Amino acid sequence: MKIEKESVFILSNTPYRDSDLIVNLLSSNYGLLSATIYGGKKIGKQTSFPFHLGDYIDIDFQIQERNDFIKIYSSQKIVLLDIDRFSYLHFLFHCYFLETIRQIAKPGNPAKDLTALLNNYVKTDWQNQFEINQMVFFIDKLIKNIGFGINYDLCLSCFLPTLKPQQNKTIFRKNMYYLDVIESGLICQSCAQNTTNLVTPAMIKLLWLLDVHPADIYEKIPMKTLISVLKIQDLYLKQTLEIKTKSAEILFKELSKLEI
Ligand SMILES: [Zn+2]
Repeated sequence: MKIEKESVFILSNTPYRDSDLIVNLLSSNYGLLSATIYGGKKIGKQTSFPFHLGDYIDIDFQIQERNDFIKIYSSQKIVLLDIDRFSYLHFLFHCYFLETIRQIAKPGNPAKDLTALLNNYVKTDWQNQFEINQMVFFIDKLIKNIGFGINYDLCLSCFLPTLKPQQNKTIFRKNMYYLDVIESGLICQSCAQNTTNLVTPAMIKLLWLLDVHPADIYEKIPMKTLISVLKIQDLYLKQTLEIKTKSAEILFKELSKLEI
C-alpha cells in the first residue's frame, strides 16, 4: 500500500507499555485515525513522539488492515500548543473539548467541519479573563457544527415566545424554563413544574447572543450565567449524541468553585 500524507490533530495520547503510545488523530479526509507509536514515549530518540493534545502535525502513514488503524512513518509539527502556559481551567477545558470531539468523530467519515473548528480553536488567542466565555463560545460552535441546536425562542408546549424583538433592543420574557433535551427545546414553568435543567431569561439571552451578536458574549455576562449555559450545553451534547466524557466531571467541579 502506498504511503499517504495528511495533516492531523492529536485528539488523545495514551501511554502504553513501557515506552509506547496509542494515539487518536483527526483527519479532514479520513475522520478518526488510530495508531500505536512504538518507542513514542522515549525522549530525544528517533522514535519519540513529543506532541500534545490539540497539536496539529503532518504525518506520513500507511493504512493497516482496518481502515482506521494506521502505521505512522514520520511526523512534523505544523501548530504546537504551548500547554505549559495554559491556566488550570483552560487545560481542563482543553481536555474536555478534545475528548468530546474524539467521541463525535467517526473512522472513515471525512471531518472537514470538525477540523475547521479545531483550526479556529488552536489559533484563538486565549484570554484568561474571558476563559468561561470562550468555553461557551466553542461548545456552541461544536453543537452547531454537528448540525444540532437548542431551540430557545419559544415554549414548546404553549408556544409563547421567550423573547420579543423591539426597535432597539430585544426583550426577554420573565419566566423560568427547563430544557427538554429530547425535544431540543424549552418548556415554561407555567406549562410544567420541572426544576431540573433550569433555564433562566439571562441564559436565554446568552444563547440568543451566541446566534446574533457572538462578539457581545465578552461583555458583562455574570459568571453564574456562563457556567449554567456551559452545563446545559454539556448535558445537551451528551444526551443528544449519547456520549460520555470522563474529563467533564473534573472541569465542572472546578467551575462550580467560581459559581457564587
Ligand atoms: Zn409554556
